[in-house]
Amino acid sequence: GAAAAAAGHGGRERHVLLFPLPYQGHINPMLRLAGVLRARGFAVTVFHTHFNAPDAARHPEHRFVAVPDGMSGARPPPVSVGDVVKHIRALNAACEAAFRDRLAAVLAEYSRDAVACLVADAHLLRMVEVARRLAVPTLVLRTGSAACFASFLAYPLLCDKGYLPVQESSQLDMPVSELPPYRVRDLMHIGRDGHELMCELLARAVAAVKLSSGLILNTFDALEAPELAKLRRDLAVPVFDIGPLHRFSPAADGSLLHQDRSCLAWLDAQAAESVLYVSFGSLASMGARELVETAWGIAGSGVPFLWVVRPGLVRSRRAAPDEPTRLLLPEGFEAATRRRGVVVAWAPQEEVLRHRAVGGFWTHSGWNSTTESLAEGVPMLCRPSFGDQMGNARYVEHVWKAGFEVGGELERGAVEAAIRRLMAESDGGEMRARARDLKKAAAECTGKAGSSETAIVKMVTHMLSL
Ligand code: UDP
Repeated sequence: GAAAAAAGHGGRERHVLLFPLPYQGHINPMLRLAGVLRARGFAVTVFHTHFNAPDAARHPEHRFVAVPDGMSGARPPPVSVGDVVKHIRALNAACEAAFRDRLAAVLAEYSRDAVACLVADAHLLRMVEVARRLAVPTLVLRTGSAACFASFLAYPLLCDKGYLPVQESSQLDMPVSELPPYRVRDLMHIGRDGHELMCELLARAVAAVKLSSGLILNTFDALEAPELAKLRRDLAVPVFDIGPLHRFSPAADGSLLHQDRSCLAWLDAQAAESVLYVSFGSLASMGARELVETAWGIAGSGVPFLWVVRPGLVRSRRAAPDEPTRLLLPEGFEAATRRRGVVVAWAPQEEVLRHRAVGGFWTHSGWNSTTESLAEGVPMLCRPSFGDQMGNARYVEHVWKAGFEVGGELERGAVEAAIRRLMAESDGGEMRARARDLKKAAAECTGKAGSSETAIVKMVTHMLSL
């Protein structure tokens, strides 16, 4: 039935072209979408930059086309939010002409009507424009929450009303009455100096969606029904809520770093729901002092842990990719926690969160991490640092009640107390119960006739109709 939808169309294979933004949190959902489309009978071509190129050998089922970004080696990897925002703008400019050439070549090869559409990341406006000029229909994948995209739409209004840019810290706790439950601190912002940059980034993402023929979101109805309804009212294009995508496409490992699978055997030997998984994603960083406080807080909690300390996590250190993880940790930490914890440079996160031994997740609240955790019923300790992370943490604590935020300066006593609260105290238990409810809801949404499954069918039909 649906599996053969695209292949059966006119007896010819239909192609979908994808172009992810080259960051881990954007590559993962795009490759998972690739898996979904492949399973529905589409042939998938993935365009990618040299910067953070995905490993094509791990995905023999897709075709990969490199788009020279003209920047490889010329610049250091982005380290601050401002760097990332500037890098996104630079990538758009650098890839435009090369993408036009590659796209034209692909169109010549497949014949135009065999190509159903391009799905580009919301931050690749230039690629959406290129595709339109070559008469290729486009959809946009936005890798954050529906609530977050609603905040992009509202951004100019929120600036007009004076919420942004943040002038003084007292403003941070002001509720944004247009977008409950957000407070000013939960919105995307990078201070006064970066304000114009941020406005431009978000306006371009909105423009990409409005130019396209549809918005794809890695969220699901049980999480964000009111936010999705609002987006559908405010946007003229259809919105497809097809998440959590990893549930449909679990084999699509798009990791840029090597996943250390040895931790899974260690988890096998641990008691059910006893382990705290700690990871701050692919970009967030911390100061050397914060790392020390985190380490001693984890040690002092007495809770078994699996901690991802990736290269580049500590700001004051050069990100040497082959630096042994333990060199980053404070002296004595290993000896103090030897039997109780494991530190790895990068984990198979989906499998870790699915493991019965994992009972809590200390996360930076990236959207992928958040949905992966909720889909497995794991409650969270949230430590957001930038971008949409604060908004995600706000929803985890305030709307889904499946975790809480640890704010302020990190100090070992507070870390210890927060970990115990999540793992051992009664309100942590309530959050675990809420997370379990959401796991059930996610299973229903992605199951037969569920909202996400239905949205995929609609998306495929839409793609074939463009
Ligand atoms: N991830 C992983 N291993 C790790 C840490 C993270 O595979 O040790 C994956 C995780 O499953 C998620 C992605 O990396 O899919 C991180 O995306 P997220 O949106 O959570 O955060 P970002 O890295 O974009 O800040």
